[in-house]
Amino acid sequence: MEKVLEVKDLHVSFKTYGGEVKAVRGVTFDLHKGETLAIVGESGCGKSVTSQSIMRLIPEPPGRFDGGSIVFKEKDLTKLKDSEMRKIRGSDISMIFQDPMTALNPTLTIGDQLTEGILQHMNLSKEQAKKVAVQMLDLVGIPSPQVRLKQYPHQFSGGMRQRIVIAMALVCQPEVLIADEPTTALDVTIQAQILELFRDIQKKTGVSIILITHDLGVVAQVADRIAVMYAGKIVETGTRREVFYNPQHPYTKGLLNSVPRLDVDGAELIPIAGTPPDLFSPPVGCPFTARCPYAMEVCDKVYPSATKLSDSHGVDCWLQDERAQKLLANR
Ligand code: SF4
Ligand code: MG
Repeated sequence: MEKVLEVKDLHVSFKTYGGEVKAVRGVTFDLHKGETLAIVGESGCGKSVTSQSIMRLIPEPPGRFDGGSIVFKEKDLTKLKDSEMRKIRGSDISMIFQDPMTALNPTLTIGDQLTEGILQHMNLSKEQAKKVAVQMLDLVGIPSPQVRLKQYPHQFSGGMRQRIVIAMALVCQPEVLIADEPTTALDVTIQAQILELFRDIQKKTGVSIILITHDLGVVAQVADRIAVMYAGKIVETGTRREVFYNPQHPYTKGLLNSVPRLDVDGAELIPIAGTPPDLFSPPVGCPFTARCPYAMEVCDKVYPSATKLSDSHGVDCWLQDERAQKLLANR
């Protein structure tokens, strides 16, 4: 599998009045060409901070990059000058957010907004840029794009607006598209259509997608691989099959149990008891210890290193680590 992006041991913190929050604490993952990698977890787990770090959109201060690397096309993005990063942002790596309205300018037509982005990054005439804009609207399934180009954002429905935002993110044919909760603001039917659109676009363009979401239903529909985040760390990674049918981290199991299942009669929704740890002073050991039904003595003392269960499946949990037994025996 060709790697498009490699994130290694990423650390990011934020200064607040209450102290310093360690939001991302050693995140490592690869993104492969043409795949959709879903990063899932509860709010505050660090998934959005991780994606914003890739785009170098963390404001410093209050944010602070504390270490790690993000390699894209043999360049470490964390080391680039702002001017170099600006060239990559939007053209090689682009991002879409939850609320399409904030990404669109209400005072400009869709056509002007699309062509502006095209002219910024591509060496084209205005006429050619307009042609590309029409093609993009067509790609994202907006009917009669010639007419629609002359309209303003408020003349479109929420779902249509999100399609336009996706078109804007794709105009420069990025290799990586980061989508942070792209369907959260939409109702379920429209959400399914937008997810279908992601799959369709990926087939046509080969773009690699990082999908940030708290919604396992969304993950089940589009993800090839899944990274589960908890308290600033990725605690389990695997293919969609591995994570859904053979989850190994107790937190992943808890997440899956808390989702209502339509395929099982009378299946109960079991929420995970307790709350995530305070990231002002994150625990040295496994951050799930306080909520974990399987916690052992070693768990809150030493963070479990990653155990490889297959080429694609890995988990940070002492239950999977043979050394845990030894540590327990030598107590
Ligand atoms: Fe539970 Fe220990 Fe595994 Fe953490 S390391 S998830 S506390 S068993
Ligand atoms: Mg978020």
